Parts: sequence; C-alpha cells; structure tokens
Amino acid sequence: MLHISDIKKYDRCEKLFWLSQKDPQPRQPYVYYHEDLVKLLKEKFHITDAFEGHVGDDPCLAIQAMECEDVLINARFAYGELRIKIPLMMRKSSVWDLYFTYGSCYPKESESQVIFDHLEVLRLLGISVGDIRVVHLQADYIRKDRLDADALLTESEYLYNHKNKAHKKITELLAECHRDLPQVIGNMQELLRETNISAQRSSVCTRGMKCPYIDTCFPQPPKDTSIMHLISCSARYEMQNKGILDIKDVDLEKIEGTRQQFSQIMAARSDTMHFDALAVRTWIDSGIHYPLSYLDFEWETYAYPPYEGMKPFDVLCFQYSLHIEKQPGDKLIHKEFLEQGDCREKFICQLLKDLPKEGSIMVFNMEGAEKLRLHQLKEQFPQYGAQLDAVCDRMVDLALPFSTASIYDSRMRGLFSLKTLVPIFSSYSYEDLDISYGMDAVRNWRRLESADADEVKSIRRHLLEYCAMDTYAEVLVYHAITEILEEKERAMQLQDV
Ligand code: SF4
Repeated sequence: MLHISDIKKYDRCEKLFWLSQKDPQPRQPYVYYHEDLVKLLKEKFHITDAFEGHVGDDPCLAIQAMECEDVLINARFAYGELRIKIPLMMRKSSVWDLYFTYGSCYPKESESQVIFDHLEVLRLLGISVGDIRVVHLQADYIRKDRLDADALLTESEYLYNHKNKAHKKITELLAECHRDLPQVIGNMQELLRETNISAQRSSVCTRGMKCPYIDTCFPQPPKDTSIMHLISCSARYEMQNKGILDIKDVDLEKIEGTRQQFSQIMAARSDTMHFDALAVRTWIDSGIHYPLSYLDFEWETYAYPPYEGMKPFDVLCFQYSLHIEKQPGDKLIHKEFLEQGDCREKFICQLLKDLPKEGSIMVFNMEGAEKLRLHQLKEQFPQYGAQLDAVCDRMVDLALPFSTASIYDSRMRGLFSLKTLVPIFSSYSYEDLDISYGMDAVRNWRRLESADADEVKSIRRHLLEYCAMDTYAEVLVYHAITEILEEKERAMQLQDV
C-alpha cells in the first residue's frame, strides 16, 4: 500500500522513497501535538453525528458511509495501491465539500499538489467534489482558561506563500498541479522492484528538514574543507560537479563573497584557524563584564497552546542551567531549574532570584532562543516585564564571533553549534552524555508525564546533566576564545617590537 506521504517523498527524491519503504525510520516530531484534532474539528463545526474512520480501515467503509451519512471524518479511500484520507467531508446536495486540516498556522502553497492528488483519487472513484478549504491554526489566537476550537481553528480557501501571505486560492493553485497520478503510482511501484538506487548528493538532501537517510546514502562525511561545507553557497553542487571539491580551490567568481565564506577560504588555505583578533577584542571590550553568568534554557514547543496566555507554537521553558563565574578563573557556582506542567511563573521567579544582579549574561545564539523566550514570557506575564527586559539587556551572544565569521576553524565544517565547538576548543564532548541533543532532552521531558518513579529520577538526572553541559560548554568556549586572543595579541606585540 502507498500513501500520499510516500508520493511526497518520491517527489523529493526517488531514493528517499525507496529507502523509506525498505528501511522505514520513526518520525521524530519537533513540535508537541498534544490535542485530538478530530475532537477540535467536531467542536468547531458543531458535529454531533458523523462517520469516523480509523487507521487500517477497509476503504469500502467510507464508500458505504457516503450512502447514509452527511459528514465523514478521516474517511479512507483507495485507488489501486494508493490510500488517501480526507480529514473532513460534508455533503452539500449532490457533491461533497472537502476540508484539509493542518496543524500549522500557514499551510504552504506547495500543499496544493498533495490536495490535487487527493482530488484525483476521488475523481477516479467517481466522487463529486464541491468547495475545497483548508482548516489550520489561527496564529494570533491566545488561549484563555480553556482551548476554544472555534477561535483556534480557522478555515480558508487560500494557501500561503513563503512570506505567509494568502494571495492565491486553492482552486487557482490546483490548476498548476495537473499530472497523471496513475502513471506516478506505476513509476513508484516499478522503482520498488529495483534492488538498489544510486544516490547523488544535492540541495534536496538538506533543504528544509535534513533527509533522515543522509548517513545511509553518504556514510563517509565530507572532509573538513569540502566544498560541501561552504556556507550559503548556491553554486557548491555546480562546483562539485566540475571537480572543485575543496574550499581551497573554490572558484571566486561563483561564490557570494560573504564574510563567512571569506573566513572559510582563509582557514582552508592557511590550514589554521581564522581568528580576527581586532574584531574579537572589540566584541569583548564593548560589552562583557564580570561577574559572568552562563545561561541556557530547554523548552517544549506546543502546536496547541496548553496554558492560559499562550498562542499556537508558543514554547514552554521547563529547564535552565546557570553557571556563575564571579571573577576570571574563580570556581564556578552552578544553579539549575527543572519542572513539569505549567511552570512558567516559577521559572521566571527562580531565574530572577538565581541570576547575579549585575554582569554579563552569556548565551549561545540568544536572539532566536533565550532572548525570544523571555520576550514571550514577558507577553504572558507582563508584571515581570521590566525585570525580564533588564535580563535581556545584559545578554551577550557567545555565538556572535562565529556567526559573524570573526573565528572559523575548518573542523567546524560550516557549523557553529556548541556541540561542534566544544571538542575543537576543549577536550570535552557531548557524546559521553546519555542525552546529547536538544531534541533528545525534549523527548525525555515528554516521557516524564507517564514515567514511573525510578524512570522520573533517571530522566531528571540525565536532563540536568545535559543542560549543565551546555552552560559548562559556554564557559569552555568563552575561555578558549580569550586565551587565543591573548596569545594572538602577544604575538602581534612581539612583531611590533
Ligand atoms: S540523502 Fe539525498 S539522495 Fe539520499 S535519500 Fe535523502 S535526499 Fe535522497
């Protein structure tokens, strides 16, 4: 049996589809969908009586239900080997109005192909369709004491472009999606008879969400100075195809000439770390003051707002780690927080209590993370607004020397996450921890809800270890930067003499 999700994979990459059938991988959702969409749909459309389909249903059930029901939810149909599911269909005289549901705020125009394929199956089955609409989450909905399905879900005859603007109707987009679906299904089935499919590395492998089979297709990671690591370079595949494999040999006419690309080329050609001492000195002198607080949050993203004051896709900060260094080289003081449930206000209060009253707060990649989280908390708890603003004002982004390319080491391979930097700048590594990635932490936190007492103890210990490692990594990276800077400055002074 094939599903529409298989066609999406096939459209992205034939090998991805083939591998997903031969070696299925579990889906790892980045967002927590903790509500029952069917329940919300029924509430929104005031549905009290409907046929409700379920996973694995015989497709005849939906066809039979169409004889006597006016509303079908999650109805399964099949054309040949292809199965589809229509989230909601409502009879309107002799046709069926269709509603496609999305657990996102702005279902994209690219979804029109998926909708077309569904409609094509219905057409081939002789089912007449009326209006076509999407139902999605309302981005500016703010939850009150209960989740209000009518305000949370909105229906539209539009899909959204990359700027989240609705300027084309679904019907207009469908006109551009025509294809011979039976032919596509036939091609897919033929592909499955192959014993192997060759893989060609291209932008498809990393566009949007990184392909889950990238390590299967390319078990040998590109070397440190591979052209594949050249940041934001649209011509890297073109250069690779022409035999330019190393950043050292890059065709300067082909690149965008960003600061990052410049520092990558400098590091590759000199075979040393690119380190702009003047830029790093300016960064330190213009805003870093002791005592230093090294701070990191962990959070869960909820598609459906779980607590009062939250919007769709708001996050819930459930953990922080804080290392405090009063003076350079002083013994570190460690403070931490980890809670379950609606711990937002407790999180704010303990953070304000734990943070030193002065000094810089070092955060890695703060703009899209910790600072943003505090702004969201400020909206939900305006009574702490001034104090949270003061915390944000003291934040210093430890990722800045890397994101602005003042520092680049080829071993970074085009990345500058803490996990990449720590083994380059110290003898530590995340690999020794039981939880070594942010999403692992979130998944473990989700498990706390249903875990028994022993598991809770073990999960909490691992979560605390992981978050503490993040702030300790910030300490290691900051001190490594200052040591290299001092060494460079000493060398420059000697040259002047
Ligand atoms: S890694 Fe690239 S080639 Fe391999 S399956 Fe994924 S998209 Fe296809």
